[in-house]
Amino acid sequence: PYEVLVVGQGPAGCAAAIYLARKGINTGLVGERFGGQVLDTLGIENIVSIPYTEGPRFAAALEEHVNAYEIDVITSQVATALVPPSEPGGLFTVNFGDDASLRARSVVVATGARWRNMGVPGEQEYRNKGVTYCPHCDGPLFKGKDVAVIGGGNSGIEAAIDLAGITRHVTVLEFMPECKADDILLDKVRSLPNVTIITNARTTEVLGDGSRVTGLGYVDRATDEARTVEIAGVFVQIGLLPNTEWLKGTLDLTPRGDIVSDPRGATSVEGVLAAGDCSSTPYKQIVVAQGSGAAAGLSAWDYLIRTKAP
Ligand code: FAD
Repeated sequence: PYEVLVVGQGPAGCAAAIYLARKGINTGLVGERFGGQVLDTLGIENIVSIPYTEGPRFAAALEEHVNAYEIDVITSQVATALVPPSEPGGLFTVNFGDDASLRARSVVVATGARWRNMGVPGEQEYRNKGVTYCPHCDGPLFKGKDVAVIGGGNSGIEAAIDLAGITRHVTVLEFMPECKADDILLDKVRSLPNVTIITNARTTEVLGDGSRVTGLGYVDRATDEARTVEIAGVFVQIGLLPNTEWLKGTLDLTPRGDIVSDPRGATSVEGVLAAGDCSSTPYKQIVVAQGSGAAAGLSAWDYLIRTKAP
């Protein structure tokens, strides 16, 4: 068994594993694919001290850093259950499918999250060519242009407020007859001259010229009329889903599925730490995930030195 098993090989999991290995802890780092969500992105401009990098290059750098230590890396494994020890301080078991498992005295969960897609034609084709999911990451790429935000919940309206300060005009498309965001955010967005909110809008298609997004098709659900808006970018804000389904019933989760965790990464089960986009740490960003991964790694070490094995 390992002293600590880190599940998830994105920025958070890699940070936790490196911090643990640097303390001489016998560490396993297991996951589905090395690098995490950054593999799906092209330009990254907000890793502080790295003015520009690209997703695959950043993932390769993460891997090189991890490989500089004696960390046992196991890829292409999807965790399906976490089983706590029968006595305090004992071994946790992490199951992978029906017949594989790994054991460790402490577990760091860093399985990240995934953006909910619109599921309309053009969305995948124009990903990173105008279709984006992260205003903090890609907002500046659309400086002075017209953009759309899909979703009138809190994250969509926050995105619209953010983008109104950077882009020329923002159109918010909300499926329901009313936006669900908090009143304070709606008051703010309605006060902005360059934001238009369209409710009852069912997005049907992302339009493009083959290399870039040029517009968006939607149906007005009240009249059944098909319409288009000309825009250069679409920010999809209809939900970030944490990869925590496998932990239901074992760890306390928030209503939206994030693992309830404190600033040290401590969860509802002693010896299990959480970090990054799967945890309740606010702001889903690379540097934030790395910071919380470092904290979770140090907390796992702290748990080991303070707990007696049975
Ligand atoms: P993740 O990166 O999600 O890594 C988690 C890993 O765990 C994944 O490899 C996943 O496959 C694996 N996993 C999931 N479930 C299981 C399981 N059951 N068993 C085993 N493994 C599992 N942030 C920025 O700061 N700047 C940017 O420019 C930026 N651009 C982005 C662009 C896109 C298109 C996307 C999608 C995200 C972007 N982000 C950006 C957000 C950033 O990528 C995330 O905040 C960050 O990757 C979170 O790191 P993480 O380690 O918590 O999780």
